[in-house]
Formats: sequence, C-alpha cells, structure tokens
Amino acid sequence: MQIDILTLFPSMFGGPLTESILKRAQEKRLLSLRLHDIRNYATDKHRTTDDTPYGGGGGMVMMPGPLIDAVEAVRGPDRAVPVILLTPQGRVFTQRVAQGLAQHSRLVLVCGRYEGVDERVRQTVITDEISIGDYVLTGGELAAMVLVDAVARLIPGVLGARWAADEDSHAMGLLEYPHYTRPPEIRGLRVPDVLLEGDHAAVERWRRWEAIRRTWRRRPDLLLSAELSAAEQWFLADLAEQDAPMLL
Ligand code: SAM
Repeated sequence: MQIDILTLFPSMFGGPLTESILKRAQEKRLLSLRLHDIRNYATDKHRTTDDTPYGGGGGMVMMPGPLIDAVEAVRGPDRAVPVILLTPQGRVFTQRVAQGLAQHSRLVLVCGRYEGVDERVRQTVITDEISIGDYVLTGGELAAMVLVDAVARLIPGVLGARWAADEDSHAMGLLEYPHYTRPPEIRGLRVPDVLLEGDHAAVERWRRWEAIRRTWRRRPDLLLSAELSAAEQWFLADLAEQDAPMLL
C-alpha cells in the first residue's frame, strides 16, 4: 500500500512511522509512506499557505490553491484514489473504518492546521473526511499517524502472525480477552489454570467467554452488534444478572 501524506510539518512524522512494525513493513515494501510539504505548492516567494478568514474572526485558514494543486499533483490522474481530510468534523475512525481503508492500494491523507482548510478544498479534491475522536487537535498530523498505524497493521504480512489482528479488540466487535505470560504466579495472583493445562479447545472457549465478560463490563454498547452463538448469548444473559457494567 502507498500512503501519501500532505502536511505543513513533514518532520513530525519521523519516529512514530519509522520504528518497529511500521519500519519493517516499509523495509519489506508492504508499505510505502511518502511525505509532501504543502509549502512546495505555494506560489509566492514567502511560500504562503494560509490567509485570514473572509467575514473576519480569529485564526487563519489554509488557502485552497496550494492544497488543491498539491493533492492533484500527488494523487495523479486516478480519481479513484481516496483523498482523506483529517478533521474533527469527519466520520469517526474505528477498527471497521481501518479495515475498509486497508483494502485500498493507495491513500492520500491531508493534514489541516490553524482553523482548518478552505471549504472549496473539500468540494474539489477531498473524497472522505475522518476524525480520530470528539476532541480538537492542533493539526491533522497526529491524526494521520494514528490512521496510518491502525491501517498498516491490517495489511497482510505486516504483523508477524497472520491471525494476530483478527483477535484484537474491536476486530470482531468485542474487546480482547486478558493476556498472561510467565511467571505463573506473582504477588499472589495466579494465571488461570485453563491456560496452563494445554487443552487448546478449552483455552479458546475461555478466551471467547472472557472477551464477552470484558466487553460486557467495559463496553456493553459493543455487544449490540457483536455476533454471539446461542451458548454465548446465554452466558451473556447470566453475566447480566450477576454483574453490572463498570462506569469508566
Ligand atoms: N476549527 C476546526 C473545527 O472546529 O472543526 C478545527 C481545526 S483544528 C485546530 C486544526 C486541524 O487539526 C484540523 O484542520 C484537522 O486537520 C486537525 N484535527 C483536529 N482535531 C482532529 C480530530 N479529532 N481528528 C482529525 N483531525 C483533527
């Protein structure tokens, strides 16, 4: 997958996108990240990319000219490539959205700054708008990094074990079960026996039930759309009688 990122601050991306799994994904050519400085598309000698808002008010607005030119140059003639504006006004980013984006071979991400971008950028070159949550950041760069990280790990071959992403929280509509590693006991807390006994079917069952228990306690809203077998629905009904969700 190739992801092009348009930003006024390309140097922000070093570090988060060049370490660990994302670094290896790029080395293995499963992921190609390209950073583009929007200032390179400014047309005046000061390389101006923002201006005061029509109608007055505080703050600056990103000018449409340099941004539209930048998107068109980077995207090229293929209008099917998704051009995503990071904005608190977009659809909220979830695992499901990440799974959808991971199906594409290319993405173009546009990072806003200041008060945001001139509305005509949206109307001409943007095909999708994504928010990483109901809060306001100073710029779209951190949001773009979150999106790249979540999407990249879904590209086949990026994670070591093929199945690792399938069981993650949110992948199947549930939060993930609890994890344990050595030692078997610490500070009086023991690893559940079932995990030590080598019965794989029992482990799978335990994990599934613990995922349901955890989701019920922390995010009962997710259970409305989770796919549960009849036995799991009974288990959940039982849980609901004994145990109230936590108020996080
Ligand atoms: N005035 C804008 C509004 O109220 O919608 C907010 C502008 S914000 C200070 C500057 C830029 O940060 C935005 O253009 C966007 O690119 C990015 N940004 C801020 N919050 C975001 C969020 N929750 N998700 C994605 N991008 C965000």
